[in-house]
Amino acid sequence: MANQYAVIGLGRFGINIANKLFESGQDVLGIDVNEERVDEAQSYVTHAVIADSTDAEAMKTIGIRNFDTVIVAIGNDIQASILSVLLLKEMGVPKVIAKALNKLHGQVLEKVGADWVVYPERDMGIRVAHQLLSPNVLNF
Ligand code: ATP
Repeated sequence: MANQYAVIGLGRFGINIANKLFESGQDVLGIDVNEERVDEAQSYVTHAVIADSTDAEAMKTIGIRNFDTVIVAIGNDIQASILSVLLLKEMGVPKVIAKALNKLHGQVLEKVGADWVVYPERDMGIRVAHQLLSPNVLNF
């Protein structure tokens, strides 16, 4: 059975996670405050809606607590990212994954309940360095 995923923030990071999950047969709801981003995302996810993830009422209307995993892919607006994670955990979402811009942002995300914090720029930088140091190792 397909898992129910929601991806909040449909920038390059969010839309790529969302689309990979969708292509693998999962149910993916894309959420963004930006109408253009939502329009662009329509063919890459199961369904995409305009909503502000810091708005508790909007998240309730979407039924966000029924999703197995929610990915918060908001970066630049640190306040929105933190508030969203807090809200999602308070609503009872079992697994919340959040993108952090830096170490401090990541620490706060963990404090408010994020189950997994990812640091895309840092991790990709490390991966590139590894690849340069051992080019024969297969990378995924
Ligand atoms: P990326 O680096 O992934 O390309 P970006 O540079 O567009 O992202 P970010 O600030 O990381 O910028 O925002 C990612 C997406 O999150 C944007 O499309 C933005 O509209 C969306 N977003 C920001 N705040 C909210 C919010 N409160 N609710 C829903 N979506 C939001």
